[in-house]
Amino acid sequence: MAPRKKGKPKLSVWKFASCDGCQLSLLDCEDELLTIAGEVEIAYFVEASRAMVRGPYDLTLVDGSITTPHDAALIKQVRRASRYLVAIGTCATSGGIQALRNFHDVKEFAAAVYAHPEYLETLPESTPISANVPVDYNLNGCPINKRQLLEVISAFLAGRTPVAPPHSVCLECKIRGNICVLVLGTPCLGPVTHAGCGALCPTYHRGCYGCYGPKETPNTLSLSSWFSSRLGVSEPDLVRAYRKFYANAPEFRLESKIHEK
Ligand code: SF4
Ligand code: SF4
Repeated sequence: MAPRKKGKPKLSVWKFASCDGCQLSLLDCEDELLTIAGEVEIAYFVEASRAMVRGPYDLTLVDGSITTPHDAALIKQVRRASRYLVAIGTCATSGGIQALRNFHDVKEFAAAVYAHPEYLETLPESTPISANVPVDYNLNGCPINKRQLLEVISAFLAGRTPVAPPHSVCLECKIRGNICVLVLGTPCLGPVTHAGCGALCPTYHRGCYGCYGPKETPNTLSLSSWFSSRLGVSEPDLVRAYRKFYANAPEFRLESKIHEK
């Protein structure tokens, strides 16, 4: 990754289909945000500032998935205006919880919710940013971890590759000294889920439900086998376990389909 040239780098933050939680993670950086604001020109960040400076941008953070023809066209413009583009959060990196539509006919959902669905302009699937334009880095999480976000921003500004752990939530869980909830009988997706949250849920004695998405080379087959043989988890509940925040991630999508009747 080549370091950028002189002058304050321009940062832009764009929102597509999402709850805004990942943008709030950036605002939640508080003290660090002031340092970031001193290092970059916040050129476009509607949730934080009325200033709207036109591109090109040195670093663009994109929150949300692509669900409409308008957004499918806009993300291409954003990509063209950005030197580096980082997708942040579950929606942008995988399609989000709204990607549950990908397993059904979205027209049926629209007809059930809206009196006049014919006025809607929506795509049949919710897709990650990487399915629409090239992405320089994907930062998982629902929402993202602010420390990881700061690492990604610092890395891109310094012209280096971000350091992100490739291991599962289990390792973070062990580092915290937690008693494993899986061996106590609670289904936990920690063994197949990407680290980053600090094992938040098992620390409070509940199973992980996979909101940081699949880790590298997740052994979902083995975990499903443990869930069903040791914990008595039914096939429909196995489908539900994988079909949550990262339902559209290829590894979880495939595993949920295996258990779908
Ligand atoms: S509680 Fe979950 S995340 Fe923690 S070690 Fe057990 S399986 Fe892994
Ligand atoms: S433990 Fe699992 S569900 Fe809980 S915050 Fe971490 S990744 Fe998300």
